[in-house]
Amino acid sequence: MGNQMNDKLDYIIENLAEKYPAPETELNHNSPFELLVATILSAQTTDVQVNKVTRELFEEFNSPDDFAKLNPNDLADKIKSIGLYRNKSKFIVESSRIILADFDGMVPRSFSDLLKLPGVGRKTASVVLVGAFSTPAFPVDTHVFRVSNRLGLANSDRVEEVEEQLKDLIPEELWADMHHWLIFHGREVCKARSPKCEICQLKNYCNYYQKKGE
Ligand code: SF4
Repeated sequence: MGNQMNDKLDYIIENLAEKYPAPETELNHNSPFELLVATILSAQTTDVQVNKVTRELFEEFNSPDDFAKLNPNDLADKIKSIGLYRNKSKFIVESSRIILADFDGMVPRSFSDLLKLPGVGRKTASVVLVGAFSTPAFPVDTHVFRVSNRLGLANSDRVEEVEEQLKDLIPEELWADMHHWLIFHGREVCKARSPKCEICQLKNYCNYYQKKGE
């Protein structure tokens, strides 16, 4: 890594760490399984919306056993306020059945096993590894993807490549925090349609901002 990139990364980390101390997932959960369900539910939906639904849902059902017994249509009725609820219901019931049949009722702890569950892609698997098992991973969601490309910490239109670039660039012990920081920064400041560059404390190191001024 060149000195320039070193300085830039240090500056970004310092700023985001100060602004968002002790970052954690905003999806409420009390177990690895609840985090898995909440993360499946969160695709193209806000965490706030997911938390509203899981507050009641997890009082009634909170284990693979509970969900495996459900008819996906009945679950769909309970999560109707969430986007793509029919598919997500199928994914959750089916994943629960696989967890019971193949993983002794426990959420798998390896990336490759997590990917065997329906509705679980690289991002969801990484969120579960980081959030439930404190295993280093770098989930790249829409915010991480956009903000890291704009800042110039990554440079690719492929999610997997962005993940690799970020993992190469950022020290492993900071992957989890950096993933949260980029999400929070993306939600609050570096918004998709109208990034608030004028008030952004990272603008002096941001490729997108520099290009805008050219
Ligand atoms: S300067 Fe603008 S584009 Fe760059 S990180 Fe800040 S808000 Fe995003």
